[in-house]
Amino acid sequence: MIHVYRPDTLRDLLALLAAAEGPRYCLAGGTELVARQQAGLIGDSLWADIGAIPDFRGIRKDGEDLWIGAATTHSEVVESPLLGGFAPALVEACAAIGSPQVRNQGTIGGNVACGSADADAVCALLTLDAEVELAARRERRRLPLADFATGPEITVRRPEEVVLGVRFPARKHLRGAYRRVAPRNGATRAKAAVAVSAVLREGEIEHVRVALGGVGPRVLRALGTEKRLLRDPWSAATLARAMETAVAEARPLDDLRSSADYRRRMCGILLKRALDGIGLPLE
Ligand SMILES: Cc1cc2nc3c(=O)[nH]c(=O)nc-3n(C[C@H](O)[C@H](O)[C@H](O)COP(=O)(O)OP(=O)(O)OC[C@H]3O[C@@H](n4cnc5c(N)ncnc54)[C@H](O)[C@@H]3O)c2cc1C
Repeated sequence: MIHVYRPDTLRDLLALLAAAEGPRYCLAGGTELVARQQAGLIGDSLWADIGAIPDFRGIRKDGEDLWIGAATTHSEVVESPLLGGFAPALVEACAAIGSPQVRNQGTIGGNVACGSADADAVCALLTLDAEVELAARRERRRLPLADFATGPEITVRRPEEVVLGVRFPARKHLRGAYRRVAPRNGATRAKAAVAVSAVLREGEIEHVRVALGGVGPRVLRALGTEKRLLRDPWSAATLARAMETAVAEARPLDDLRSSADYRRRMCGILLKRALDGIGLPLE
């Protein structure tokens, strides 16, 4: 049996989750949770609907950072002028997600909490140096998003903790792009994806972050690719070396949706497309 509660305050939610003994889940947009329950992957459990709690809502500037509440939907990200200015890769990633239904219902917090290796928003958020804010009844903590998922759908979140939101530095002049390949039927997840966020100065790369989705046990920062892009002046040779490095950094598996070899090769091509997307000439 599934017991659904709808607390009005964060305090009540955290008390509910702390007191529960068996499996307990936050219910945000429900796109993933309901699909899993219908697939028989979730049994008797407590579901705490977070929809009435204001603490999970909002997109705002907080000092030098931008803060996105966990209950923010992908569509709200796409429509946010603030994020269009400070997080263009995230806006493109959320626009690429599944289908209009999933974009309208699915949330940033749900995307993060699932710990999926192909989570589009997470891939872009890694290029923004994002942190995750977690809350439990007696403790609040903040940790780098890069340390949050440790394997396929495995995260460091404790059962009584919730994702309150994500934050990242509001960097000026940041460009960003997100490119992914997915089956032609639009309501499907990425086979491989690349996010790039960068600051350019006089046609050269001054700051860059690259992340790879769908090609490892979790979304990966491509640290070697970033070093390659920063080391040499921008040229066709620099691009070629960075593409080779991205392919080498991918750690994909074969599965029913795609071969590992295809996924690996696409990392180079998607990197090239993303760099084109931020306005770097391709050759
Ligand atoms: C048809 C379909 C297509 C999809 N396509 C894509 C895609 O293209 N790209 C993509 O990245 N994802 C995709 N998804 C996956 C998923 O819908 C999204 O990742 C979405 O962001 C999940 O958010 P939600 O609010 O619906 O989460 P829910 O379904 O409500 O929750 C998912 C999980 O996260 C937990 N959770 C949610 N919010 C919190 C919180 N604040 N604190 C703690 N735990 C929390 C829940 O307890 C649950 O375990 C797809 C799913 C479906 C069904």
